[in-house]
Amino acid sequence: MILCCGEALIDMIPAPVQTGGTGYVPHSGGAVFNTAVALGRLDVPTGFLTGLSKDLFGEQLRETLGNSRVDTRFCILSDRPTTLAFVRLTDGHATYTFYDENTAGRSLFPDQLPDLPDEIGALYFGGISLISEPCADFYAALAMRDADERLIVMDPNIRAGFIRDEDRYRARLDAMIRRTGILKVSDEDLEWILPGPGPLDEKAGAIAARGPKIVIVTRGREGAFASFSDGTMVTAPARRVEVVDTVGAGDTFNAGVLAALASDGLLTRAGLEEIDGPRMKSALEHGARVAAVTVSRAGANPPWSHELSGPDPD
Ligand code: ATP
Repeated sequence: MILCCGEALIDMIPAPVQTGGTGYVPHSGGAVFNTAVALGRLDVPTGFLTGLSKDLFGEQLRETLGNSRVDTRFCILSDRPTTLAFVRLTDGHATYTFYDENTAGRSLFPDQLPDLPDEIGALYFGGISLISEPCADFYAALAMRDADERLIVMDPNIRAGFIRDEDRYRARLDAMIRRTGILKVSDEDLEWILPGPGPLDEKAGAIAARGPKIVIVTRGREGAFASFSDGTMVTAPARRVEVVDTVGAGDTFNAGVLAALASDGLLTRAGLEEIDGPRMKSALEHGARVAAVTVSRAGANPPWSHELSGPDPD
């Protein structure tokens, strides 16, 4: 089983109301949440670890997870409210206003670290695990505690605008990267981590030298590549599809990659050693296939496994 560790929140999406003006419709969301839902829908045994509010939005999030076959028994229940992200669309461009002070998802502390069963072979972390206090300390402590026995996978999903103390964030990110077996970054993330001139593949190689066996770099419609610490490199193109929106493309791509590795029994610390170039290439291709479905429909709505069983679109 893979345990996805991060925040589930509510995106408040604007919608017209009958009396005039704008109302908001609550949609379940969050980067790690999207990946967990996608994994569950792809039939990968998946759990979710978060601070989950007992309020009605917490109920909505739990219901969405359960409906997608994600195990919620690891959620730490809280009387604090759910984080809300109000979305404003201006000329098709989304900006966010967060209501996230002292919320359930952000208020996890290292003394709440749970004992985890042996069935959990991998831990998946996202960006919020690094930015938000105090939950960043909680997630970092979990990764430090378990890195020797469980595979650590991370997508930092860097949002430079949300980082308050850059030095602190960079130090945290670096500490996490050193414990990560598979790191996924976008090309923009990579340029942020290692600014300055130089080709992406060399930068990915430089990060792999810090600890991860595999650094996956996604490049939107340009596809993705994976750079191994031993110098191996494999690539996979993106699918050519009619794009509705790219919300959640990276989150579901990650789920597709991990689902392929899980089906080969490789989502464990020992399994990591067996991942070679050809296996990684086919995992990247699966990621592109899953992401292609997500970008061809509205919102982060990951496909179910039966939606992938049709003929190849290419
Ligand atoms: P996010 O916006 O969710 O943070 P990301 O930056 O992490 O995404 P991207 O590099 O944008 O991730 O996309 C991840 C994968 O999704 C790509 O490698 C590709 O397979 C697929 N994808 C993204 N955009 C497109 C597109 N326009 N057409 C087809 N596939 C796409």
